[in-house]
Amino acid sequence: MPAALPLPPGSTIGILGGGQLGRMTALAAARLGYRCIVYAPEDDPIAAQVCAAHVQGAYDDVSTLARFAAQVDVVTYEFENVPEGAVLECEKLKPVRPGVKPIHFAQHRLREKDFLRKLGIGTADYQPIRSEADIAAATALPGILKTCTEGYDGKGQARVTDKAGLSAAWEKLGRRECILEAMVDFECEVSAIVARGLDGATRCFPIGINGHRDGILRTTTVPSGLPATTLATVERFGIELAQGLDLVGLVALEMFVTKDGRVLANEMAPRPHNSGHWTMDACATSQFEQLVRAICGLPLGPVDVLAPSRMENLIGDEANDWPRYLAEPTARLHLYGKAEARPGRKMGHVTYVLPGLLPPASGSSTT
Ligand code: AMP
Repeated sequence: MPAALPLPPGSTIGILGGGQLGRMTALAAARLGYRCIVYAPEDDPIAAQVCAAHVQGAYDDVSTLARFAAQVDVVTYEFENVPEGAVLECEKLKPVRPGVKPIHFAQHRLREKDFLRKLGIGTADYQPIRSEADIAAATALPGILKTCTEGYDGKGQARVTDKAGLSAAWEKLGRRECILEAMVDFECEVSAIVARGLDGATRCFPIGINGHRDGILRTTTVPSGLPATTLATVERFGIELAQGLDLVGLVALEMFVTKDGRVLANEMAPRPHNSGHWTMDACATSQFEQLVRAICGLPLGPVDVLAPSRMENLIGDEANDWPRYLAEPTARLHLYGKAEARPGRKMGHVTYVLPGLLPPASGSSTT
């Protein structure tokens, strides 16, 4: 196969998925002179508000997917649960970056953990739970039982301490294929966001500390203040994953740093990640621009931190406080254009740059 050529500005990027990650990718692409076309089943996806066009169709609608792929030069996706079939359809006509392999692993927690282990990336102890016999043999306790597919932001999960609790939790999750992961006593949560270019070059964004509440990311603070040896392991795991996936694009690897200094991978997302939103305001290249550079075959951008920062998600009606954020000189406000502020819904985020001047973090606990 001849080496793939860079796609110059003026080319068209197709995005599978119409959410905020697609929207912010399209904004970064526009800045570099690219056009974006979004493919999504909804009537009015928020990504389409900032794209040249919206192709509306289901992810199994082969002819509409083909019509979409025919109009673009390269395809990417903004969520890892895009069906493999949709990616394979697009691949018949255009390169899809980062391809089908990353979603094959990211869509199934057991496959994902096995793959990480195969690459030599540390994880908590885990075991499959598919039967009563698996429960009887379980040793990763206390732990968290998670469905292998379709869980995110803490959904499809239960904390269990013993076999009776495990059995009850498995019933409650509908006796679906699950993974039991040993509970990690972590000091903090971090994510490595790594770009890999068409030429195989990799670059990891500086690491921030992630704070969660109710299973949802609330804050990311940069710099992390973690020791250099820990940061080196976090970055190495992220880069090994990007290389192991042969990925062109971005991958985020969420990890725990334990109280005794070990780094254990939790899960991957082969797309821009909420914990990288700070890069839009406080890094030399944003994660969205980096994705555009990678999938278009351009050189990757520098990832120097321009200023300390803290990103806070605006969830549900928190986004109604937009006048307060606009009035705060250190705050950079991003709203996603969602019509309805439902509880738990990510409506926008705000990045405080130069946190020495900041009010204390709201909702930034690390549990
Ligand atoms: P996940 O859906 O796997 O990203 O899990 C959501 C959140 O639950 C994580 O960000 C952690 O805060 C927590 N969590 C998940 N797995 C574990 C684990 N094995 N040990 C401790 N906490 C966990």
